[in-house]
Amino acid sequence: MAIVEVENLRKEYGGFAAVEGSTFSIERGEVFGVVGPNGAGKTTTLKMIAGLIEPTDGTATVAGYTPGEPAMQRRLGFLPEESPLYEEMTALEYLTFFADLYDVPSGVARERIDRTLDRLDLEHRTRRIGNMSKGMKRKVAIARALVNDPEVLIFDEPASGLDPLTTNYIIEFTRELSDEGKTIVFSAHNLFHVESICDRIAVMNHGRIVARGSVESIREAHGGTEYHVYAT
Ligand code: ATP
Repeated sequence: MAIVEVENLRKEYGGFAAVEGSTFSIERGEVFGVVGPNGAGKTTTLKMIAGLIEPTDGTATVAGYTPGEPAMQRRLGFLPEESPLYEEMTALEYLTFFADLYDVPSGVARERIDRTLDRLDLEHRTRRIGNMSKGMKRKVAIARALVNDPEVLIFDEPASGLDPLTTNYIIEFTRELSDEGKTIVFSAHNLFHVESICDRIAVMNHGRIVARGSVESIREAHGGTEYHVYAT
């Protein structure tokens, strides 16, 4: 059975459909890309799966649980595009605070946080978040999404606004998480960020899924090496 099931998910804002009925399923261990331009409906779709936005219609389940159920929250890690970080805290304080919210025992939390920050090569862990670079902040946000050791990770445009080096780092780290068996949903503006890691992708435009399949099949269907495949 698929670990993420999305069935006719729809979101309207005052008569405007931000998402017009998305349907897809994601297998356990898969890296699934959601690709599309600004305003395509990627964030709205991902937030409905995570239970952060109430759908107007349709359903989403993670490991058979509906959004908002505690059993589902334990299995899910969500990295928002714009992560609100508590700028006054240090990275360690911040991550420990979130681990506590998830009831992760303090010894386990400490070890998990250290290991994740080591893997992300984050230095200056006792520096205030407010004094960190954008790339460092993104790494802290990624570590936060992993603090409860979730089965499913939703990364909403994790590479947006970052330099190529940090972008590659994040893509490589995502690949490692996948190799460890995590299921990952990864959104991006273009195929460039997802082609090397995603098993399958859904292309969104104007609130609709306009293409779906492997990166090769999408690229073949939409013109060879063209990266911006926002078919209508
Ligand atoms: P981006 O790459 O810019 O983040 P996106 O694909 O994630 O784009 P969404 O943020 O899901 O797109 O937005 C889809 C559409 O819904 C956009 O037209 C956006 O303006 C609209 N929208 C999103 N949130 C709201 C809201 N709270 N109220 C009204 N309209 C909204």
